Amino acid sequence: MPEDIHRRGFLKSLPIAAAGIAGGGVAQAAAAGASPSDVGAAQGERPFVNPRKIMLAENTRKEFREWIESGRLKAAILPAGSIEQHNEHMSMDVDIVVSTLISQQVALALYPQVVVAPPSPCGFAPYHMARKGTVTLRKETFQAYLLDVLSCLKAHGIRTLLVLNGHGGNGAPMAEVLPEWRKVLGVTVDADSYFTAHPIEFLKQVLTTGQPESHAGEIETSMYMAAFPERLRYFSMKEYDDAKLNYESGFSPDILEFLGRDARSHPKNVLGENARDRHRQEEALLSKIETGEVLINKAVTVFVDRMRKMIAATEAGQPWPPPARKAQL
Ligand SMILES: [Zn+2]
Repeated sequence: MPEDIHRRGFLKSLPIAAAGIAGGGVAQAAAAGASPSDVGAAQGERPFVNPRKIMLAENTRKEFREWIESGRLKAAILPAGSIEQHNEHMSMDVDIVVSTLISQQVALALYPQVVVAPPSPCGFAPYHMARKGTVTLRKETFQAYLLDVLSCLKAHGIRTLLVLNGHGGNGAPMAEVLPEWRKVLGVTVDADSYFTAHPIEFLKQVLTTGQPESHAGEIETSMYMAAFPERLRYFSMKEYDDAKLNYESGFSPDILEFLGRDARSHPKNVLGENARDRHRQEEALLSKIETGEVLINKAVTVFVDRMRKMIAATEAGQPWPPPARKAQL
């Protein structure tokens, strides 16, 4: 991986730039009560709304109160992810950072209709515990966290709620409780992963590798190169091999005890894990900034569309998901 990577103006290439926050966005944001410092020319000739302003926690109570009472705030996105090892070259918060980035860009594109809730601090990733540093919640804790946040958002008057996930292991736990959330909350609710915006045929066209490995490979590394190059470390395969990593045996008693508790064990993942781990590391070397921009753009575009449809369903008093989609699930 070359060492001279820098963050180029990737925000300019996102749908936000084409969707009207740039240009008309200044007036729109000003009309929404944003202060002049929120709307600036930080991206050259294309002003954008400071992303922090669409994070719920960055607002004061006055700002949030006025936003919701104005009727302009219609929906919330709750980013979910994981704190887990991402091989030798990426920080452990990739899944949260990327899902939050995409959530922010969706919220900016639809500004001021969408707020971004506090992202999940961790996710469900017990099978990464053998690598040092991973922090996982129990499945029930993760599910309860999401429902607690969604319940607060609903209590504050937000009727359209989307959990936007960035970690594969969270998918099944979310799908398991989504029907229950819909019943309990009684508003428009959905939960999905940003990578559902990247179908296999699309990935085949975009990626250098024929066989996309999502975890810590070309996909995630390319997105990090585009958006967060400062969170990448540089490595060589020699360094990787010299570290003599072994994720198939020799775990400490504490890790074995952890993996054996509460049905968190995933023993079938252990065999062949060393080869898989090395493959991911090799694949990461094929990553490109351009690839990352295409992947981010695609996810933002798909979820802007999803959010628009969800808000429209809520406003029209129609069920979500629409009956046709429900039949396919
Ligand atoms: Zn990941």
